[in-house]
Amino acid sequence: MREVEVVVIGAGQAGLSSAYHLRRTGFGPDRDFVVLDHSPGPGGAWQFRWPSLTYGKVHGMHALPGMELTDAAADRPSAEVIGAYFDRYERAFDLRVRRPVDVRAVREGDDGRLLVRTSDGDWSTRALINATGTWDRPFWPRYPGQRSFRGRQLHTAQYAGPEEFAGQRVVVVGGGASGTQHLLEIAPYAAATTWVTRRPPVFREGPFDQETGRAAVALVEERVRLGLPPRSVVSVTGLPLNDAVRRGLADGVLDRQPMFDRIAPDGVEWGDGPDTRRVGADVILWATGFRAALDHLRPLRLREPGGGIRVEGTRAVADPRVHLVGYGPSASTIGANRAGRAAVRDIRRLLAEEPAEPAVA
Ligand SMILES: Cc1cc2nc3c(=O)[nH]c(=O)nc-3n(C[C@H](O)[C@H](O)[C@H](O)COP(=O)(O)OP(=O)(O)OC[C@H]3O[C@@H](n4cnc5c(N)ncnc54)[C@H](O)[C@@H]3O)c2cc1C
Repeated sequence: MREVEVVVIGAGQAGLSSAYHLRRTGFGPDRDFVVLDHSPGPGGAWQFRWPSLTYGKVHGMHALPGMELTDAAADRPSAEVIGAYFDRYERAFDLRVRRPVDVRAVREGDDGRLLVRTSDGDWSTRALINATGTWDRPFWPRYPGQRSFRGRQLHTAQYAGPEEFAGQRVVVVGGGASGTQHLLEIAPYAAATTWVTRRPPVFREGPFDQETGRAAVALVEERVRLGLPPRSVVSVTGLPLNDAVRRGLADGVLDRQPMFDRIAPDGVEWGDGPDTRRVGADVILWATGFRAALDHLRPLRLREPGGGIRVEGTRAVADPRVHLVGYGPSASTIGANRAGRAAVRDIRRLLAEEPAEPAVA
């Protein structure tokens, strides 16, 4: 059994930021901590994002602590830009990410330690930083008739660019940033596009300043404090009204329809009987977001009846050895940076066996 002080699961923005702060405060890689990641290469979830999501199209990627991301060309895929940057970062700070290592379960170990079961053997640790993001858990809603659909259904997680939809009738579901970006890209290729969302989208005028950011984070924080699953970022920030979106609204590509009532073999339908309205479709693209990838923590029973995990800062209220970084209020690149630092500070206190700060209800 290999023993360490801290296991970090995930080497995205949240995991690397945590590993950086561990390193800076004297923890040695492989000796005191390990970083485990099941993806094939550096970049966290960015390595899987579609090629047309260029660096210029992301909303504002915050650099990792201690190393700027300079000279990134706006027209290069963000998967390449960020993959290369994370690779440089891991080497510069000697973080020694172990990959591909899949963490299957974390359970109670001996002597108050946690047992981390992986595809590459077990680890015993005193503390855990979970930084597994959301990409591995795409959320597919269920609608009546879905199985009868004869066309293709895919999720944002499988989207690889607009070209493959040439000449097809595409229904895009979802009112987030991914949904609008898919529509704007696909419309010039497709025979027709239809946009459906559950709630009318809220567009945000003006820049996304610090105050707006703080207000959005506070809203997510409140839910997580109550033990509810965090909402999507867009539900609290609104959709940025940039030039491309303005054009999409003007030319009808972003003409939002309410959610359909059912899926038919060859399209989607609203209403019943003689009032039924139908739109034919070859493809349904579910841009319906992601959920936190936390199944491997199930043996620790951290979930509240509301379905979320209550955290104070980054610390799981139900188990002070466990920190969730990049979860809920810290699920942004800037949030993940800050949360990595906070988690390490808290873990240092725990390992020094000083009482942790009391949880505030
Ligand atoms: C399309 C899209 C665009 C976005 N654009 C922006 C943006 O412009 N600005 C911004 O701030 N945020 C953006 N976000 C949110 C952004 O993804 C996060 O802010 C941040 O990159 C997430 O970092 P993370 O480290 O939490 O997760 P990830 O980057 O998802 O990293 C998690 C890592 O954990 C690993 N992992 C997961 N489960 C396991 C397991 N069981 N065992 C081992 N390893 C595991 C994965 O392989 C992955 O490498 C965007 C999100 C999406 C989906």
